[in-house]
Amino acid sequence: MARVDLHALTKTWDKATAVAGIDLSIDDGEFVAILGPSGCGKSTTLFLLAGVYLPSSGDILFDGTRVNEVEARHRNVGIVFQSYALYPNMSVLQNILFPTRFQKTPDAERRAREMGELVQITELLDRRPSELSGGQQQRVALARALIKRPNLLLLDEPLSNLDATLRLTMRAEIRRLTRDLGVTTILVTHDQLEATTMADRVVCMNAGRIEQVGTAEDLYMRPETTFVAGFIGSPPINLIPLPTPGVDAQGQTQPQTLGLRPEMLHAGESGLPLQIDHVEVMGRETLYSGTGPNGALRFLEPTAQPRWSMGDRVHLDFAPADSILFDAAGRRLPDATARRTE
Ligand code: ADP
Ligand code: MG
Repeated sequence: MARVDLHALTKTWDKATAVAGIDLSIDDGEFVAILGPSGCGKSTTLFLLAGVYLPSSGDILFDGTRVNEVEARHRNVGIVFQSYALYPNMSVLQNILFPTRFQKTPDAERRAREMGELVQITELLDRRPSELSGGQQQRVALARALIKRPNLLLLDEPLSNLDATLRLTMRAEIRRLTRDLGVTTILVTHDQLEATTMADRVVCMNAGRIEQVGTAEDLYMRPETTFVAGFIGSPPINLIPLPTPGVDAQGQTQPQTLGLRPEMLHAGESGLPLQIDHVEVMGRETLYSGTGPNGALRFLEPTAQPRWSMGDRVHLDFAPADSILFDAAGRRLPDATARRTE
């Protein structure tokens, strides 16, 4: 098990900076998710941690010791790739055993069988990867990543190839497994639900930088930037441009964007005018979208039976405390400012 510290970690390629100076500390035994859109530098960060890539600058510390130049196989990091990367010509057992090939210990096979049991594939150990379903291959990859009792477990979009039901099962199972083993785990994903349901803390990345680190609730209720506000939450938050100057006469920063989650808007007699042009029943809730003088808006009501129909005109009200205000640079303004401007 390990504590991980990243200091100004940077990886530059010829044409792009994939990771642009990341500072992050992960506690021993913690489960952290790195969440962000495709191309934001998630996998690169993981490969830097694994020792597959060398950093361009900055430092990687495991338990306080700098490991920048330590070879991948000496870092004792378990990794599950998005593609699983199982060896097709080897049996499941041989695949699980593979990371131990440099240390011929007599109990490696016993350990491999133990891992197989842990991820519930005992009856599949003699098969080839091609004879397994996606979910079973996923379990083999996990067993292989865990056989050397890694200090750190790295998971790169491990569930993206599974169907929705299996994804739900594996989410819970991976969480249980890592908790039981107490292994420090970093999960990379572009799926906000996966990140927020599995991780102790979520690291939201954008264009090689960290936008915010926090719990699922922090990111949802107190997004630090308009990027995080827009990336977290489904249906997405309404980000309404405000016609105020950036700075008032006293030199005080004025909000430029008003963030309102769809469930924080209540249809009634007063507030922001909206003409409904789309009604979507989503299970026990109904999502309404429309346009008004404030642009496109969405609001959500907790009823399966729609109260409004297409063409209806409503007004949307909200409690000031439910609004999130951002400055011209897209950074959240303190709550006190929010109340004062009401
Ligand atoms: P993510 O995993 O978040 O989708 P990546 O870390 O794979 O993103 O990529 C981040 C950026 O770095 C992208 O712009 C990508 O094109 C670039 N990149 C990644 N790997 C390489 C590489 N081996 N050579 C050159 N550019 C790369
Ligand atoms: Mg990736």
